[in-house]
Amino acid sequence: MADAASPYLGTVPKPADIGVARKALDQGSLQSVPVAMKDIIVTADGRKSTAASKMLAPYGSPYDATVVRKMLKAGAEVVGKTNLDEFAMGASTENSALGKTVNPWDPERVPGGSSGGSAAAVASRSVPVALGTDTGGSVRQPAAFCGVVGLKPTYGRVSRYGLIAMASSLDQAGTFTTTVADAATVLGTIAGPDPLDATSVDREVPDYRKALTGDVKGLTVGIPKEYFEVEGGVQLEIGEAIEQAKGDLRKAGAKVVDVSLPHTKYAVSVYYLVMPAEASSNLARYDGIRYGHSVERDADWQGSLEDVYFQSRAQGFGPEVQRRIMLGTYALSAGYYDAYYKKAMQVRTLVTRDFEQAFEKVDLLLTPTTPTTAFKFEEKADDPLAMYLADIFTVPASLAGLPAVSVPAGFDKQNLPIGLQLIGKHWGEATVLRAAHAYEQRHDWHTKEPPR
Ligand code: GLN
Repeated sequence: MADAASPYLGTVPKPADIGVARKALDQGSLQSVPVAMKDIIVTADGRKSTAASKMLAPYGSPYDATVVRKMLKAGAEVVGKTNLDEFAMGASTENSALGKTVNPWDPERVPGGSSGGSAAAVASRSVPVALGTDTGGSVRQPAAFCGVVGLKPTYGRVSRYGLIAMASSLDQAGTFTTTVADAATVLGTIAGPDPLDATSVDREVPDYRKALTGDVKGLTVGIPKEYFEVEGGVQLEIGEAIEQAKGDLRKAGAKVVDVSLPHTKYAVSVYYLVMPAEASSNLARYDGIRYGHSVERDADWQGSLEDVYFQSRAQGFGPEVQRRIMLGTYALSAGYYDAYYKKAMQVRTLVTRDFEQAFEKVDLLLTPTTPTTAFKFEEKADDPLAMYLADIFTVPASLAGLPAVSVPAGFDKQNLPIGLQLIGKHWGEATVLRAAHAYEQRHDWHTKEPPR
């Protein structure tokens, strides 16, 4: 098993030869590049695919996820499976039933979540590339906390086949890398339509690396004022990083303007109705009969079929997963559906419309990725609402299905990484990456490594 603080579940890979991988990556190739996979992405390589849940702890997948298949075809080598919050529910990786992962910058702090293992693996330079999933921020938030580049593509850009489902209208595979150019390479590899995922879209996949011109001439970047009006405020150094980034982008040729996304304040509430509703439905398949943890395997088990369902689920799912199944089931139940789920879907449309209106005037939005840098273990573990608010800046783009990236933007006074988020139009990954790259080129933050 992994050691107490590892990014990995199962076997910890040997330290990668980053030099060899670097050469390939610099040419836009993934040949022999070691890659870590969030353990919610299934692999048929003999490794377990656990979703960091007791429910799936013994599960080995008979097939590879499409993103895995594409990475292997491009020559990459999957070297390990990384830790996460159980079924990707969480923002600190503390909800994992299978282990703990620390932030490489400070062992007393969380790596973020839910893809905390993938972020920590790349930040600690154990691998140059990792994949994760982002439903409400699970790639961008841990990327910000760990000081790496985290990209969530447009919903439909990358196949979800073989991602253990959490909330199907929000889930999307994403990338962790140390540079924006590497994110472009990996996205170019995993993007595209897939007959095995009806929500993947058949649109041309551009050469994302070609988009990295080093400038942002002709682009208009919007700063949504609502992202600075949140309760509790934005950490001082993060606000300063935004101010500095505005100047950087202007120098690189962009026009920077203020915009308004008035429904931003409802996004977290909407998300925490839609996501549990979909999750409660997706997780109904873990019933103790078909696969996964089952009380029936206990030699002395006796009970009714109903007992098998109840006991297997009670034992197999951790507290946060159970909480969301209950919330979701409630929001979907007769009599409450209209008041909660339907209302949430209506407000989701308003959040999406805010973005559409803003994108009539601007090409990109610049925001903080998170209101604070990495928090300490236990700090929010007993307060679900505080944990949910960790995603306040990442959830809106998820609800609207938009592409967004978190890029390293310096360090706070405690030497913890800061992340900035750039949100683009649907299918606008090339522009998102172009701006992120132009910004990245003006600093050396992405080259800084955590203490060993
Ligand atoms: N932290 C958010 C949640 O708990 C987002 C998770 C995710 O994107 N998978 O739902």
